[in-house]
Amino acid sequence: MTASEACILLIEDEPHIRRFVRSTLEGQQWTVYEADCGHRGLVEAGSRQPDLLILDLGLPDMDGVEVIKEFRHWSQAPVLVLSARSDEADKIEALDAGADDYLTKPFGVGELVARVRALTRRHARQLEASPLVSFGDVTVNLAQRVVLRGGEAVHLTPVEYKLLCTLLRDAGKALTHRMLMQAVWGPGHTENSHYLRIYMSRLRQKLEQDPAQPAHFITLSGVGYRFQF
Ligand code: CA
Repeated sequence: MTASEACILLIEDEPHIRRFVRSTLEGQQWTVYEADCGHRGLVEAGSRQPDLLILDLGLPDMDGVEVIKEFRHWSQAPVLVLSARSDEADKIEALDAGADDYLTKPFGVGELVARVRALTRRHARQLEASPLVSFGDVTVNLAQRVVLRGGEAVHLTPVEYKLLCTLLRDAGKALTHRMLMQAVWGPGHTENSHYLRIYMSRLRQKLEQDPAQPAHFITLSGVGYRFQF
């Protein structure tokens, strides 16, 4: 599957946002199906088997988070949440329920296309499962546990490497502080995000062109981090 062949299901009750998202994505050669409520959306999802689900959190008949939970029972396809609420707690709840990323309304064409492209690419990449991952001037060989930057070996501590692998494995996905700490330090260490900030800053120092303006290790204010290619 290439990213451009992806089929997308959009569940959104506001007609003008459906029109905007559909016309934007169809302009990029994606196939788009629509539903205007959660129940119809889940039926469509079952019959269309979308490569990506775009979901409004505020639906008339059910909570978007419940839709994500239902969908996750049988699909691993990425979920992009549209949220009118600026409340970080809602986004974290959606991500914990299995969403991959979010856009806060109002959003523009460029932002929408970038997120959809990253998530559909991520899905395609998981299917390929190559041990070599590259971004900027960095290459990571996951099979040999070697990190090169401009051809030179970069030394990462075990924790830095584990954090890097966690981010790479879920590239394009918004990861909450709790998810990252759990993945790197284990289930008992989900409270103190201070360490996470320190290790993220070290990864940026070692792997970003400009650590002060990261292009790959992105901070999601109040929520967590996202790695992007
Ligand atoms: Ca709505």
